[in-house]
Amino acid sequence: MILPDSILGVLGGGQLGRMFTVAARSMGYRVWVLDPDPGSPAGAIADRHLRAAYRDEAALTDMGENCAAITTEFENVPAETLQFLESRVPVRPASRAVAIARDRILEKTFIREQGLATAPFVAIRKEDDLADACQQLEMPALLKTAQLGYDGKGQLAVSNPDEARQGFQRLGATPCVLEERVQLELELSVILARSVTGETALFPVAENTHVNGILDTSCVPARVSNELAAQAERMARKLADAMQYCGVLAVEFFLTANGKLLINEMAPRPHNSGHYTLDACLNSQFEQQVRTLCGLPPGSTALLSPVVMVNILGDWWAEGTPPPWGQLFNHPQTKLHLYGKQQARVGRKMGHFNCLAAELDEAIHTAEQVRAELTTERTTKFSRGQST
Ligand code: AMP
Repeated sequence: MILPDSILGVLGGGQLGRMFTVAARSMGYRVWVLDPDPGSPAGAIADRHLRAAYRDEAALTDMGENCAAITTEFENVPAETLQFLESRVPVRPASRAVAIARDRILEKTFIREQGLATAPFVAIRKEDDLADACQQLEMPALLKTAQLGYDGKGQLAVSNPDEARQGFQRLGATPCVLEERVQLELELSVILARSVTGETALFPVAENTHVNGILDTSCVPARVSNELAAQAERMARKLADAMQYCGVLAVEFFLTANGKLLINEMAPRPHNSGHYTLDACLNSQFEQQVRTLCGLPPGSTALLSPVVMVNILGDWWAEGTPPPWGQLFNHPQTKLHLYGKQQARVGRKMGHFNCLAAELDEAIHTAEQVRAELTTERTTKFSRGQST
């Protein structure tokens, strides 16, 4: 067991690293953040910010010698970096789990191997693979890069073999998956924490909406049957067990129009759709990350209140002017979280707010109101199947 006052390391200093740092420091740990960006949101509040590249051997050696354990906030840390650290200090989650989650081909193949459903897909390693793939799958389909895609980036819709070939070139002629576009009833996610000894705690299922491929809202509890929620939980647990996973794991699901639950992808870290846990659960996903990193059992994931989380994107800044935050503070059950990013850009995640209420409908109502007060251009739509 790694106990308070020890130094914990985190690779990556964005908002996830920042919220991990807040949780760890308030639990009495010290935190070192590795991130080359001098403006790193986590670096700004860490005990130490190592401004170095992820392959910088001197920085990694320093971390390996001083940190009691190391975690990551993103899956694209170079594999060699995780392996280098792993030979010196506990790294959780382990590099092999991160390697699976980082690559859509490995990830979807692994999910299938566990007997779990994904959208129909074919691995595209070279342009020639496309002709067969287009025959096998129903069009239109989505072509997604195997690596480095997130928030809808690195993917495009294609409706025939010609478009698929052009799309493959536009994406950089890099390995991809071609995946059928499924009719979505709604999107769900399950976040869990699994300890070194396999003890697992699952957070309540979240019901998510996306706009332009980016998460927009999460509603908890999800408006699905107990059976469906239990099925999602079983599937998430099965993946974590199969990887002998240690840490926080997020699993995203599609519920199709004909009632099938498919796994879309997983993330080997806390997830945007788990930010509701910061205010609505007994332990947040970041506290769970600290616990599992430190060899402690996961804490209770009890939901204290229905909640709606709304992402705040850079789009809400009008020519550099921030939204009128004062409006939000008039709502006593709404909590603001800003990530300390200096520059607002379209599509950039700047923060989020959580609305709590005795009933989910009331939380949704408040969330709509707060959003309307903070932004004039857009309105919230929380109804089912609203994902775009
Ligand atoms: P991804 O980056 O793969 O998580 O995709 C981002 C979002 O695009 C998802 O949350 C869905 O809203 C949508 N999407 C991705 N793949 C599919 C698919 N096969 N069928 C329908 N919608 C999809």
